[in-house]
Amino acid sequence: MSQFVVVVHDVGQCPEPQSEPDRALSYFRSWWEAGGWTDEPIYLAAVPGVMGDKERGILIDHCRGTNARVCLHGWDHKRGKLGHGDLSAALAVFPDARTVCPPYFEYDDGTYEAMASLGLRVIFGGLNGEHHQHGTMPTRVGADGSIMHYSAMPWLYAHSYRMVGAVRNAADLSYPLVVNVHHRWDAVSLSGVARLREALAGRIVALEET
Ligand SMILES: [Zn+2]
Repeated sequence: MSQFVVVVHDVGQCPEPQSEPDRALSYFRSWWEAGGWTDEPIYLAAVPGVMGDKERGILIDHCRGTNARVCLHGWDHKRGKLGHGDLSAALAVFPDARTVCPPYFEYDDGTYEAMASLGLRVIFGGLNGEHHQHGTMPTRVGADGSIMHYSAMPWLYAHSYRMVGAVRNAADLSYPLVVNVHHRWDAVSLSGVARLREALAGRIVALEET
């Protein structure tokens, strides 16, 4: 049976407009509840620069009370290759985070260099041929090969309701596939989140992060 890693993009931001903060993480909490998530080890890619102290605290408490974990999604979701400044600032807010998901999948060798210097070993990258040329299988990247790069798949990069069939029909692979959920997009169909979670049940894995 295929295994999956779930990355939830844009936690801390509202569905529309994206630049607006999700106050008290009320939208995120409605997304979580609609999905019926409990203790799945999913990665919550948060945008600390748009969150207040209150929201940051809510997210940290949420992860402590579940099996979810924070993933670094840059600082304020601005465009440009993700670098040391944004990553170190985000890590200062979420010191337990060990994974990175670059906003807009904009990253390069400088991103790997910054990650290596900060002890971050896993990057959830974009689509092969569009955002990178590392292929679709997990690959070691960075000057010393210390970082694992996981590619996004086009059929696992959509609204939750559109990924249910793709998850059910996924080929049996020797490595986990990353499901890129944009929780903001799910605002059009929150009921799709529970269907996606059910399709993934028992097949969600967390990665070794050390
Ligand atoms: Zn994003």
